[in-house]
Amino acid sequence: MVIPPLRELLTPRVVVPGPLCSLEAEFMERYGLQGAILDVDNTIVGADDLQPCAETLAWLSPLRNRHPVWLVSNNFSERRIATIAGTLQLPYRSQAGKPSRRTLREVLATMALPPATVAMIGDRLFTDILAGNRLGLFTILVQPPAAIAGGWSERSRVLRNWEIWVARQAGVSL
Ligand SMILES: [Mg+2]
Repeated sequence: MVIPPLRELLTPRVVVPGPLCSLEAEFMERYGLQGAILDVDNTIVGADDLQPCAETLAWLSPLRNRHPVWLVSNNFSERRIATIAGTLQLPYRSQAGKPSRRTLREVLATMALPPATVAMIGDRLFTDILAGNRLGLFTILVQPPAAIAGGWSERSRVLRNWEIWVARQAGVSL
């Protein structure tokens, strides 16, 4: 088995310069995608929020109506992810352990779609993008929503920026 270099594994197929809802509505058709797996914290909601903003709800609605969509989160709080998934009426997995492929593989098996036709959308290089690329998913990096000063979103933003710095050292152009 040939293992791709870290640079390749950390390179998203698409980098969105803004939050999830700024991704063009036709991206599924444009990239020939049939399903989507979404990260939750700092992708759909800020790490301190339980309720997605109106723009995110409006963005998710047509996607959910036309394609299978799953939420896959590393968050250990089953209750938090279940609440958000309930609001969005989407199937979900928490405690996914990305960049491990285990949970994503199980979700992919349920979706019954070729990996290359499934988008993995998230805010983190070393979890969402790395896990997605390891499985051959179509990886999309989005920016987190505005951080609340001193909150979890701000703390994870520091970690996220460190990951981007490390990835750039590894030769990833971001
Ligand atoms: Mg996240």
